[in-house]
Amino acid sequence: LSSDGDDVRVSRKDGKIDPEARFKKERGDEKDHLYMVVIGHVDAGKSTLMGRLLCDLGQVNKKTMHKYEQESKKLGKQSFMYAWVLDETGEERNRGITMDVGRYQFETKTKEVTLLDAPGHKDFIPNMISGAGQADVGVLVVDATRGEFETGFDLGGQTREHALLVRSLGVTQLAVVINKLDTVSWSKDRFEEIVQKLKTFLKQAGFKENDVTFVPCSGLTGQNLVKPPTENELLEWYKGPCLLEVIDKFRAPARPITKPFKFSVNDVFKGTGTGFCVAGRVETGVLNTGDKVLVCPNKDLAAVKSLAIEEVSKVVVFAGDQATVTLSGIEMQNVSVGNILCDPGNPVQVSSRFEARIVIFNIAVPITKGYSVVLHHQSLVEPAVISKLTSQLNKSNGEVQKKHPRFLSKNSSAIVEISVSKPIALEVYSECKELGRVMLRVGGATIAAGLVTKVL
Ligand code: GDP
Repeated sequence: LSSDGDDVRVSRKDGKIDPEARFKKERGDEKDHLYMVVIGHVDAGKSTLMGRLLCDLGQVNKKTMHKYEQESKKLGKQSFMYAWVLDETGEERNRGITMDVGRYQFETKTKEVTLLDAPGHKDFIPNMISGAGQADVGVLVVDATRGEFETGFDLGGQTREHALLVRSLGVTQLAVVINKLDTVSWSKDRFEEIVQKLKTFLKQAGFKENDVTFVPCSGLTGQNLVKPPTENELLEWYKGPCLLEVIDKFRAPARPITKPFKFSVNDVFKGTGTGFCVAGRVETGVLNTGDKVLVCPNKDLAAVKSLAIEEVSKVVVFAGDQATVTLSGIEMQNVSVGNILCDPGNPVQVSSRFEARIVIFNIAVPITKGYSVVLHHQSLVEPAVISKLTSQLNKSNGEVQKKHPRFLSKNSSAIVEISVSKPIALEVYSECKELGRVMLRVGGATIAAGLVTKVL
């Protein structure tokens, strides 16, 4: 510990470190940090919008932009030049889709924002889940072009599924970009029509009305992204904030730093020095260089050699941080994506069987006992079975409607038991909401999302 840390140590009566005082001392004058995920149907214009936003904020240098412009001209896909800011690999460029979760930084007046760019292509929803699992807030992009909004919103489109997914992963605040409004001459009627449809749906999906803001934009022409619109047809009826202002107004997430330390691993890699690194999110508590951690579900002990955030080394990291931890005293092959690091004195629960309260989405075949699913918990992906249908719940008040139902149909709510193919580390939602959420998928579609109510 530095001498600074020691000063804070004596500030509490029992002589222990007061985590909140320490946080204030270490981070008090920094801007609040927001992790933001961008979601929406493929081709809604997500990459173009975010690429343009980053360019307009001066986050991309002129030389790089010039290179992208030349390359996109050569391919005859000039409009892709902004999207390329986000799509870094050649493969993605040729296919014109974003494949992995990229990371970009920018600042607003009061926030420092890390952008988690989620892919929109259907096959890549698992990638999106790992991006959204780290997100505090979301930007949902929809294409206002006639027919296109409808394709993305109605059956088969990803607008609904993405919104449901991020909500079930804990995102409560959304900016909804009604994009490509240039294709409908900035029509107020079209904007309102889409807003009405989305409002009803987002309310059902569990978003509070006050936590959702609709913004008319054009990513391609840069209208209403980082400054008020200049387009007369839009100025005539729109007096609200631009996208950057909406992002600035998001509430920063709470940091549960007084709770026991827990960290979810979403990447494991060989570092430059000795030891190896795990990257992930500090879900709760505080972690110091030199601390011992328990790696679960295997319950192996390891020591923290060093810590970093965005490649800047730190002596301490706090709940809410995305950090890289260099571990020693454990073999790299004994740590995997989806593991939880925790305080050995206050470990996470480990089990292969748990009870959950789930909401079932639009499924074709009802769920019966023994139904096979793929369980997503944080970054963990594991085969599982719905091993017991405990009760069906009334959707509006959550009360038990029927005990031991024989099947569960679409859009219903239930308590079920889930058996996983091997033990996993998790928590009951009421104890630790960060580690108490699960998602169930079948054949590439999300069929349910839920909260852990009991670890069995
Ligand atoms: P993504 O799949 O959601 O990332 O979408 P892209 O950013 O790759 O955009 C899909 C297509 O829509 C590309 O051809 C873009 O040039 C086009 N596009 C994106 N934004 C706009 C916009 O604001 N207006 C118009 N007219 N076209 C756009």
